[in-house]
Amino acid sequence: MAALIKRTTAKGGFAVPNSPLTAGIVPNRLAADAYAANFSDLQPVYDQHEARVAADRCYFCHDAPCMTACPTSIDIPLFIRQIATGTPDAAAKTIFSQNILGGMCARVCPTEQLCEEVCVREVAEGKPVEIGRLQRFATDGLMGKGVHPFTRAVATGKRVAVVGAGPAGLACAHRLAMKGHEVVIFERRAKAGGLNEYGIATYKTPEDFAAREVAWLLQIGGISVKTGVELGRDVTLAALQAEYDAVFLGIGLAGVNALRAAGEDLAGVRNAVDFIAELRQVADKSSLPVGRDVVVIGGGMTAVDAAVQSKLLGAQSVTMVYRRGKARMSASEYEQDHATGAGVRIIYGAAPVQVLGEGAVEGVEFAYTVEGPNGLEMGERFTLKADQVFKAIGQTLVGAPIAQEGAKLVKRAGMVWAGGDCAAGGEDLTVTAVAEGRDAAEEINAVLMGAMR
Ligand code: SF4
Repeated sequence: MAALIKRTTAKGGFAVPNSPLTAGIVPNRLAADAYAANFSDLQPVYDQHEARVAADRCYFCHDAPCMTACPTSIDIPLFIRQIATGTPDAAAKTIFSQNILGGMCARVCPTEQLCEEVCVREVAEGKPVEIGRLQRFATDGLMGKGVHPFTRAVATGKRVAVVGAGPAGLACAHRLAMKGHEVVIFERRAKAGGLNEYGIATYKTPEDFAAREVAWLLQIGGISVKTGVELGRDVTLAALQAEYDAVFLGIGLAGVNALRAAGEDLAGVRNAVDFIAELRQVADKSSLPVGRDVVVIGGGMTAVDAAVQSKLLGAQSVTMVYRRGKARMSASEYEQDHATGAGVRIIYGAAPVQVLGEGAVEGVEFAYTVEGPNGLEMGERFTLKADQVFKAIGQTLVGAPIAQEGAKLVKRAGMVWAGGDCAAGGEDLTVTAVAEGRDAAEEINAVLMGAMR
């Protein structure tokens, strides 16, 4: 447990210990075999028998609430019935027809807040049909055979540029390719996948699943991916509009919000998204330095992923601090329980006042918060010892000619569509981005083929 080293009632009342605490950010905290165990699959896939038993719990509801709660509107009772009747490949096709990234969504969707929350068996018995695990059983089965269940329509001669190879861009590109259009994806990073490749905890998607899923998706044909190309730096929106029949922007949120607290530039303070990306890409997890006393500021999935993975890398104490109460936290209760189960302490209702240290972080001063008539009011202060601090207080749209329009992007203007986090203002769910990319593709197709003006 992180040390609550001193309570103070006035700014600056904490004396920083006179020791080089950043020396505590070191690699190799654990025994060699602990890394493989800690970062292995969080939830193994069902075997055939387990899947049939789980599927048999479904009532195959008419007007199924689970289906309504799914952002991609997967026909959940149908695919579960297909599993129950021994045709899991048909179940996979049912899923992929609505959500081509159904494999990743089976791993990362907060099902406890979506389909499983409203499942009638959850409502009646407090135990939902395990829809996410059944989805994974079906999709992993078909993908494991290397089978791509769709084919392209006859070529239309239309060309569409997709900017961003994250979930929105990939879903859009795949649907457009199915319709017979030619698609070029421009991606600023070295690999396709977006948050699936760079922004999700390693233990949720081990064994390079994100990259394997992209390769499987591209089997549809008609899609080329150009990596290392950034909108605004290497290519302009105007140039894309001139060269292509339509443009889809799925550029995500590349910027990170600042704490706006003194000391956030000290050594040892970094963005949680950078830490998560590094962890996803590093070949040897033991080589990644982590602090002894880690403080994570924020209350979303990124904060949970950074906190849990710090613990898995061997940090002695990890504390998440969120400025509002438990119920307001955007990480689900399941995720919060997962974090505390991994040994993370969560402090609710506290906001950072300043990061303390000389040259390197040595602690963070917080103030307890109270919801007042004019927003959050700061109360009593306390300080947490820290040699590493992760900022996870949200991301923002930057680095593109559309940035000035902020989160209120026009979804269709001048043959330019947008979807995913850059358009939604950062809902931060893979499944929502997939739905928006897919729906934009349907609309682009309708316009290009003259059915809609
Ligand atoms: Fe099955 Fe639950 Fe959906 Fe009903 S709500 S169809 S029981 S998964």
